[in-house]
Amino acid sequence: MQTYDYIAIGGGSGGVASARRAAEYGARVLVVEAARLGGTCVNVGCVPKKVMWYASDIAQTLRDAAGYGFSVGESAFDWSALKLRRDAYIARLNEVYANLLDKAGVDVVRGFAQFIDAQTIEVDGQRFSAPHIVIATGGLPVVPAIEGAELGMDSDGFFALEQQPRRVAIVGAGYIAVELAGVFKGLGSEVDMLVRGPHLLRHFDAMVRDELATHMQDSGLRLHFGSEIESIVRQADGALQISCKDGHTLQVDALLWATGRRANTDRLQLDAAGLSADDHGMIRTDAFQNTTVPGIYAIGDITGEAELTPVAIAAGRKLAARLFLNQADSRLDYEGIPSVVFSHPPIGTVGLTEDEARKRFDDVKVYATRFTDMYHALTEHRPKTAMKLVCAGANERIVGLHIIGKGADEMLQGFAVALKMGACKADFDRTVAIHPTSAEELVTLR
Ligand code: FAD
Ligand code: NDP
Repeated sequence: MQTYDYIAIGGGSGGVASARRAAEYGARVLVVEAARLGGTCVNVGCVPKKVMWYASDIAQTLRDAAGYGFSVGESAFDWSALKLRRDAYIARLNEVYANLLDKAGVDVVRGFAQFIDAQTIEVDGQRFSAPHIVIATGGLPVVPAIEGAELGMDSDGFFALEQQPRRVAIVGAGYIAVELAGVFKGLGSEVDMLVRGPHLLRHFDAMVRDELATHMQDSGLRLHFGSEIESIVRQADGALQISCKDGHTLQVDALLWATGRRANTDRLQLDAAGLSADDHGMIRTDAFQNTTVPGIYAIGDITGEAELTPVAIAAGRKLAARLFLNQADSRLDYEGIPSVVFSHPPIGTVGLTEDEARKRFDDVKVYATRFTDMYHALTEHRPKTAMKLVCAGANERIVGLHIIGKGADEMLQGFAVALKMGACKADFDRTVAIHPTSAEELVTLR
């Protein structure tokens, strides 16, 4: 049995960040990773997704170029060439992660960890123990139990695609559905989105979710709201026939399930440690990432809180500081976490939606604008940018900020700092604008 001060189960965003900090603070640390270092974000999440988002963005820029006097002509796009380059980039990142852990003095063991007791885990017959163990095993895509569901792919399957499908159906209306729909559409596939409810991005502010639907439809993407699949059948020509409950059918070359994710506790043997997952399969924690068993913590997607890479990283680092730097109060503040949806165009959002604010406060004032940004003044494709500030109370504290449009992704971070600091509308008003930008609208709203 090898003993450590700290074991991180899962070498993804949270596990690696926490392990490195703990080692920096002097702990003897082990990371156990069953697959590739970097976890979901690096291998089948944020990073390869953003590469594909850039590709789709470049395709749009090529289409826009004529508006600026360029004759670009027919451009060809090679999906498999991009995939090769993307995979090589990810392989380099996997190495970077291994080197970072090595340099930090963190041991890495490959394989699935399972609990033997609250302080001991086993990986392929080898046992390791530590007084502090963090579970950072992330999540997995969920596919609904529908006849023929296995003929579709999930987001992991998207990243394995060698060829671009000509016609794609995407089921779901969350982050992954709208992001990958934008990638496929931008790169030239025909896209149908099958949405069971009446909206995309159900939890977002109505302004951004409705604007996104308009943009998508204007780009030629077909949105089918209130649409539920009954069955999927492979036809003789290889195409998939999708039959919906309302009798509507579709023929596509590929189907993508973007119907959510679940916690990955499959191989952990939680009960051996005296732990159990909640009804949604999540390992819930208190504000300090403590589970119900002393000495066992959980961070990242497995906790079901704000499933975002920087959240897993921040929670992991705060935990390491609490355990090994004697910072008893060190914990992540889960309020005011900014988030970007890499749709086309992107969405940036932080704080409360207008509806949430109206439920929480009596005195809500909203400032909003919708305009064509300057880049699109000369292009044929002229999507609107829309912005909203949600303010509450007599001093008009900004409790929500929502943007959709070109550059929203890069605009948000600084504004998120302002919200975290408690900025009011008057603070925005006395900040001089930067011209000509889209962001300046946020400090000149009336
Ligand atoms: P993960 O990164 O998932 O790491 C968990 C690791 O644990 C995995 O490597 C897994 O192999 C390993 N593991 C599981 N079980 C065991 C076991 N028993 N023993 C050993 N190892 C085990 N977030 C953003 O902030 N921005 C984005 O743009 C973004 N895009 C995304 C796009 C997609 C398609 C997806 C799916 C997710 C995206 N996310 C994004 C979310 C982000 O990837 C996750 O929030 C983040 O990876 C969570 O980190 P984690 O440490 O909790 O888990
Ligand atoms: P989401 O929870 O965002 O969306 C799941 C979607 O699937 C919802 O629209 C839901 O519909 C729909 N759905 C669920 N079950 C079914 C079903 N049986 N039939 C039809 N539709 C169904 O999950 P994602 O998988 O898109 O993303 C998971 C998480 O990963 C996100 O919440 C986010 O935290 C993170 N992520 C972050 C990204 C970023 O930061 N840019 C990018 C990608 C992921 P309904 O709305 O009706 O419930």
